[in-house]
Amino acid sequence: MSTSAVCEVCGNSPAARIKLRRGVGLVLAQRIYKADAILCDVCAAAATSEYQSKTVIQGWTSPRSALMNPFYIASNAVNRAKHKKNLRDS
Ligand SMILES: [Zn+2]
Repeated sequence: MSTSAVCEVCGNSPAARIKLRRGVGLVLAQRIYKADAILCDVCAAAATSEYQSKTVIQGWTSPRSALMNPFYIASNAVNRAKHKKNLRDS
């Protein structure tokens, strides 16, 4: 990760790429929201907790998204851990 990366939200550095996903269950369908952004530690923490809490609140209303939710929550946690490591290494 380049040390010249700056946060897309607040402009702080260091920043690193992070990918997050969440599913919103509808009655018959599922919407999937994805984030792929260069964020600093503070903004990534805020984005991760927003995605995780919305997944927990909105993600269980259809059987299919209930099935996918544990995967989203786990992969967001993994991606956030990788993001922290990238920031440390940069
Ligand atoms: Zn930031």
